[in-house]
Amino acid sequence: MRIVVTGAAGFLGSHLTDALLEGDHDVVGIDNLITGSLSNIEHIREHPRFMFLQRDVSTYIAVDGPVDGVMHFASPASPIDYLQLPIQTLKVGSLGTHNCLGLAKAKGARFLLASTSEVYGDPQVHPQPESYWGHVNPIGPRGVYDEAKRFAEAMTMAYHRYHGLDTRIVRIFNTYGPRMRASDGRVVSNFIVQALKGEPLTIYGEGNQSRSFCYVDDEIEGIVRLFERGDEAPTNIGNPHEFTVRELADIVVRLTGTASQVTFESLPVDDPKQRRPDISRAKSLLDWEPTVSLEEGLLKTIDYFRRIQLP
Ligand code: UDP
Repeated sequence: MRIVVTGAAGFLGSHLTDALLEGDHDVVGIDNLITGSLSNIEHIREHPRFMFLQRDVSTYIAVDGPVDGVMHFASPASPIDYLQLPIQTLKVGSLGTHNCLGLAKAKGARFLLASTSEVYGDPQVHPQPESYWGHVNPIGPRGVYDEAKRFAEAMTMAYHRYHGLDTRIVRIFNTYGPRMRASDGRVVSNFIVQALKGEPLTIYGEGNQSRSFCYVDDEIEGIVRLFERGDEAPTNIGNPHEFTVRELADIVVRLTGTASQVTFESLPVDDPKQRRPDISRAKSLLDWEPTVSLEEGLLKTIDYFRRIQLP
């Protein structure tokens, strides 16, 4: 297939592009590089089945030739990014999604939306099944991301129902691994970078809030399976093993062997207290579940951060 990947120079987009190229597909990668980086796709820039376009998908997307799939991964995706880029976040989730759907419709292509566990907001149902409608503050600082993705899901379903487009919606839970930005602001990259620099690990709040961390290879495998053999209903892809932020800090300290201590900072507004995917649907529909343990994945990620230049 010839597949358009938006956000191809980002963390997930670049790993997805690698997986598609390995699966013998052709990839047209698009990115405006506001949070993505060319270094993530440097190794494939000369690949005969890869083409890169530096464009903003919120404006307009033109791709020459046939397209069989459109996978929409472009968006600021870290809390500090969407706090700094609120309008771009809203635009890429709404206008960008509309443009991607329009491209898929014009080309007769299958469409996959990268949605998020943030559609569940600060959830009152735990773990979160896809049937849960969520608990989102539309006007809080995270609302720009949460509501953009909720709109994107609604738009995707409208194209499916009204135009008969072949669509997929993946709800991605916290994912980590090589190519996360050192200054991304997310908890895994922050803790590893702080540990490697011998600085205190910044725990927000008391660290009792929980997350479930999925290693990037597992996440991408689930997404590719959903694209290939899933259906239009939203599907959680994430790791169901839940850890508190405090536990994560202890594991990172142990695995890096750092002398760093932890320090406590204030909890960001509307920070979800707990998050864990119910992955029953992905298990039965796609025969998928994560295989990489947190320790194993963290060791690979630590290794990556040891090799790059830290800010
Ligand atoms: N967090 C933290 N220290 C950090 C960065 C994040 O304690 O240096 C916490 C944050 O408050 C949240 C959790 O870790 O409860 C996960 O944050 P992240 O930004 O990785 O993603 P989120 O799941 O909130 O989108």
